[in-house]
Amino acid sequence: MNECLFCKIIAGEIPSQKIYEDGDTFVFLDIGPVSRGHALIIPKEHASDLNSGTEEAALATMRTLHRIASRLLKSLGATGYNLGMNHGLDGGQDVFHTHLHFMPRYAGDDRKFIKNEVSPDELSETARIMREGLES
Ligand code: AMP
Ligand code: ZN
Repeated sequence: MNECLFCKIIAGEIPSQKIYEDGDTFVFLDIGPVSRGHALIIPKEHASDLNSGTEEAALATMRTLHRIASRLLKSLGATGYNLGMNHGLDGGQDVFHTHLHFMPRYAGDDRKFIKNEVSPDELSETARIMREGLES
């Protein structure tokens, strides 16, 4: 049985604020966002980290970023973004399923990488706005 948290989120066994899904990737909000709209882009193929997975999974992750980033920024009123990937224990990785942090940034943003506590309602509203942005 697969005990991976993110595989369970992909399977819908653990709830998440889903933003986007295609055949190869899944995107959902981080529960401890460093900025409004902080999302995780993950390959559906399980691998503990980018280099343990296939080249196809790595490319699919970046392809999804390329497909959705501009529309997500527009829907949020964000004007830039940071990407991050913590790779390996010593890289600060906590969840061992490859994930790319997508962190929208705003005019005047102090660009801190500090996790915020956000209510489930606020996360849900942010996810709704981002999903709507992808429909346009
Ligand atoms: P990392 O330290 O790069 O492995 O990041 C793991 C990220 O997963 C952290 O930013 C967490 O806030 C996030 N996270 C952990 N559990 C969940 C969850 N159930 N739903 C959404 N994000 C999560
Ligand atoms: Zn997994």
